[in-house]
Amino acid sequence: LVSRKKRPEDTIVKFNGVEVGGPSPILVAGPCSIESRDQLRTVAKALKESGITVMRGGAFKPRTSPYDFQGLGLDGLKLLKEVADEFGLATISEIVHPSHIEIAADYIDVIQIGARNMHNFELLKEVGGAKIPVLLKRGLSATLDEFIHAAEYIMVSGNEQIMLIERGIRTYETATRNTLDISAVPLLKQETHLPVMVDVTHSTGRKDIMLPCAKAALAAGADGIMVEVHPDPQTALSDAAQQFDIPQFGNFWNGLKNSGLFG
Ligand code: PEP
Ligand code: MN
Repeated sequence: LVSRKKRPEDTIVKFNGVEVGGPSPILVAGPCSIESRDQLRTVAKALKESGITVMRGGAFKPRTSPYDFQGLGLDGLKLLKEVADEFGLATISEIVHPSHIEIAADYIDVIQIGARNMHNFELLKEVGGAKIPVLLKRGLSATLDEFIHAAEYIMVSGNEQIMLIERGIRTYETATRNTLDISAVPLLKQETHLPVMVDVTHSTGRKDIMLPCAKAALAAGADGIMVEVHPDPQTALSDAAQQFDIPQFGNFWNGLKNSGLFG
């Protein structure tokens, strides 16, 4: 069902006035984790002033260690909705359990399925039964064929509003957090009719190369870029090393706009 051979025209995913997969790419930005109202409002204000329409923020955090911050859960989603409504932004947030789907639908515009759950087929089926767009992340070591089949699980269960996002894969290279697989972009665009985005934060883990990597992604045909922004990254409760502060984010966004790749 996700194959371009079955459906030659591009799928455009629509939510809260935003279109992904159409002529103009989008930028999704926001903190790794939702931590407080002040934190979210600072980021939301900066996004609004930059003309960015979609904010991300994690409430259910799949952390490597059970002793690390696990996210604010439902309280986080409530904060996200409150702040997004105040600033007129659309929202994306990860869920990690089928029981979150129903609550999430009341608070967010797009459900994110994280890299660790790309192979969680029961969760994919449940999300496939929901009437809310899905942002599906590539698994930590997933082949493109496995990634495409994960999207197929969602679509065959009834949900056609799916966006794919490359977020880096595990290789032997240690210079970056993961290895950004740029070739995934044109290949996924060829093989499927779904919008394809690139998360430059989790793929590189390096703020010094996120701008050129984002440009490369757009030049390769990506429909959108995701990046993490935090008002004070040093104090962030997750992914402190890789989140832009607001001025760094401003430079990144100006660089992208000036590249002419944003249409
Ligand atoms: C995230 O986007 O917050 C995240 C946890 O990313 P990933 O699932 O790609 O590791
Ligand atoms: Mn993160």
